[in-house]
Amino acid sequence: MNTLSLVHQQLELFIRPGDCIIDATAGNGRDTVFLCGLTGATGHVLAFDIQQQAVENTKKRLEESGWSQTAEVILDSHANMAQYAQPGSVDCIVFNLGWLPGGNHTIFTHADSTIAAIEAGLTLLRDGGLMCVSIYYGGASGYAERDALLEYVKTIDPMQYTVLVTQFANRMGDPPIPVFIIKGT
Ligand code: SAM
Repeated sequence: MNTLSLVHQQLELFIRPGDCIIDATAGNGRDTVFLCGLTGATGHVLAFDIQQQAVENTKKRLEESGWSQTAEVILDSHANMAQYAQPGSVDCIVFNLGWLPGGNHTIFTHADSTIAAIEAGLTLLRDGGLMCVSIYYGGASGYAERDALLEYVKTIDPMQYTVLVTQFANRMGDPPIPVFIIKGT
């Protein structure tokens, strides 16, 4: 069990065919394709990345796996996601923070835009909707984003959202931290 498999397990339990999903960090498209497999052809996945390379890699992976019609890949910051969906219309939003695997390790997610994106995403979620934020940290990206996010999530309105911060207590190194935010109490 690791962060990826834990988050994927929860997504498998939560997402239903026909759902509308946002992949906030498309990267190489592995999560985007996984999410398309859960929504099926009747669903819709919006995938964001700020790197042209990530957008191309994700589109290629979608084409190869036959999901091009289900996902839309957008070259834009996830902080702008509210421009692409209606409030209360999204079932699930997934963030996989850090840098593009196999890509430029000096380009990675940052606390200010990630927090702006989480705030935007919370308005887009339907009642009962789920947001999963996997916080990768350490290495080139350091600890600033992790520290800011762990403080920020404590401030999310407890009358509207339930926030779960998951910790791998007996792992060496810098195990990524899965955070689950449910719209509802
Ligand atoms: N989910 C991806 C996959 O399955 O391959 C991996 C995502 S990777 C760990 C993180 C990605 O976030 C990188 O591709 C990076 O370019 C992207 N990113 C960084 N800042 C961003 C932002 N403000 N908006 C959208 N994507 C961003």
